[in-house]
Amino acid sequence: MGRLLEGLGGMDRFVKPGQSVLIKPNLLSDHTPEEAVTTHPEVVRALIHLVRACGAKPWVADSPAVIADLHRVWERTGMAALCREEDVPLVNLEKAGSRTVEEDGLRFTIANPVLEADAIITVPKVKTHVLTGLTGAVKNLYGTVPGRQKTMFHKLYPYPQDFARLLVAIYRRIRPVLAIADGVVGMEGNGPSAGAPVELGFLAGSSDALALDAVLCRTLGLDPRTIVHLEAARRAGLGVAEWSEIVMEGDLIGALAPREYRLPSTVPLNYVPHWLVRFVQPLIWHRPLISGACVFCGKCVTACPAEALQMKLRNRPALKAEKCIACCCCHEVCPEHAITMQSSPFFRFARQFTKGSRTP
Ligand code: SF4
Ligand code: SF4
Repeated sequence: MGRLLEGLGGMDRFVKPGQSVLIKPNLLSDHTPEEAVTTHPEVVRALIHLVRACGAKPWVADSPAVIADLHRVWERTGMAALCREEDVPLVNLEKAGSRTVEEDGLRFTIANPVLEADAIITVPKVKTHVLTGLTGAVKNLYGTVPGRQKTMFHKLYPYPQDFARLLVAIYRRIRPVLAIADGVVGMEGNGPSAGAPVELGFLAGSSDALALDAVLCRTLGLDPRTIVHLEAARRAGLGVAEWSEIVMEGDLIGALAPREYRLPSTVPLNYVPHWLVRFVQPLIWHRPLISGACVFCGKCVTACPAEALQMKLRNRPALKAEKCIACCCCHEVCPEHAITMQSSPFFRFARQFTKGSRTP
């Protein structure tokens, strides 16, 4: 980490003495570091040390997918132990109050401590994502929205372009000073929680979270132009995403070379125009399929913003397909990886023609 920051000009380029610095990992849900769902605590530890060495005051926070599990998330991810050992505040964004902000005509709330931080470092785990293609430095900031709003926004903005606009609005508001990607072990396949851990072998960082995400896309074999929120951020002038404009330096560049990692089975047809998506939506659905691994915990039912899942007594939740908005929240929170997102036959057919969304 020290070498990475040296290459970026030193931590003191990004944080100043006395500043309150939020280190924002991805703490999606209650998984251990070995499962590669959440940012590894040792990555956060290294950042804590570097921030402190600058005379700044680090603290850690994220709002997970299921807020009822917050303390379990802190324990399982190793973040509680880390913050105890380092004597660093681990802030509960659900209880710290929030303010409604407006960006790009969209209104959303951000937790007060996030808005009051002097500097923010976004620290994503490098993962593919069934809904957005990639979960990286920009999307990681979605966890600054506290509480159940995160799931409700999926209902409010069910189309990829609309949801991307929200992600970009949040990014525009938060604008981290630094983005550090935990790619030591990442996730391929049906991320962000049900994919497979994969050794990527790198830490990568940039003062431009969008540029970092563009590089992560290329590494995983995704074209950043097909990741709707990254393309929207690029068009909004919020960073650099053109490969020709990105300069890479460091001793782990080899690990960032594009490889054929497994992509989610549901990478969206992002190039389909908005009006056409609405028109063909009945044909291009994604829906959860619940397997026999279900332990009837009900977390998916609670997480569903569309009330599309109904708990059955000692049985798997039942899906009301007509209500499902394909937000993948149930898939994200299932602790047993019992939910896979199934695509319609038409979608699977059409997806054959999206092979071009891979980088060459
Ligand atoms: S599918 Fe997963 S989240 Fe839903 S009830 Fe079963 S085990 Fe729980
Ligand atoms: S069933 Fe799953 S994918 Fe469908 S709306 Fe509910 S949480 Fe989203």
